[in-house]
Amino acid sequence: MSAVDPEAAVLPAPVLRADGVWKAFGDREVLRGVSVSLERHQVVALIGASGSGKSTLLRCLGLLEPIDDGQIFLGDEDISDPRVDGNRVRARLGAVFQSYNLFPHLSVLDNVTLASRVVHRMPRKDAEARALDLLARIGLGDYARAHPDRLSGGQQQRAAIVRAIATDPEVLLLDEITSALDPELVGEVLELVRQLAADGATILMATHEMAFARDVADRVVFLDAGTIVEEGAPASVFGAPQHPRTREFLARVT
Ligand code: ADP
Ligand code: MG
Repeated sequence: MSAVDPEAAVLPAPVLRADGVWKAFGDREVLRGVSVSLERHQVVALIGASGSGKSTLLRCLGLLEPIDDGQIFLGDEDISDPRVDGNRVRARLGAVFQSYNLFPHLSVLDNVTLASRVVHRMPRKDAEARALDLLARIGLGDYARAHPDRLSGGQQQRAAIVRAIATDPEVLLLDEITSALDPELVGEVLELVRQLAADGATILMATHEMAFARDVADRVVFLDAGTIVEEGAPASVFGAPQHPRTREFLARVT
């Protein structure tokens, strides 16, 4: 048996890690050897121009899209191994996208409890008690029995976030969750993400809300044409970007 390495013992193990991920659609290389990792309780903001590959990266990490090369680890497990049961892995993750997140024919409560009941086989009574508590905490308790179309866009996204966290996922993947919202509804959704971050959630979020990323993220990753060209603390990436592509991008969006 090998001796315990004291260095290794204190290094936080990544919760989610991509290692040299490549992904093409046809002959278009969208991810070109992307390596990124996320530690427990970390919030990482993924920024970059439209078409730079942010959504594709999140979809690959969430096993919603197969990769061409590289590896993805969730904890110790290589989840990019084709023999892995994708449904079992996806049950350990929470994801929210830009729009169309809730099932329109189900009540808010049924949306929020669906995965707990069906995937995690939690008794309906327990799943509903937990969901009602979560919904009440974000001020949507009165909407539990309503269908999503009764809710504003901001309320729907908050319900979608609650649905994503209802199963206690190891990582939350958020893809531009405010970009389809009217400006006056953006704040309430970001406020919920801020709360989750403060409560210790592990979050990887693609966002174009630079002020929010600067404020809430522990680390910012700038993706440019399928490659990470710069990453670091928000203060350095936003305050003193090193790469010309980062500077150009930030000059355009901030
Ligand atoms: P971002 O989220 O940064 O805007 P995307 O990951 O959505 O970038 O897209 C990166 C590139 O991949 C774009 O050129 C887009 O057209 C292409 N792409 C994304 N998804 C698909 C797909 N399913 N089929 C073909 N091309 C795609
Ligand atoms: Mg996108």
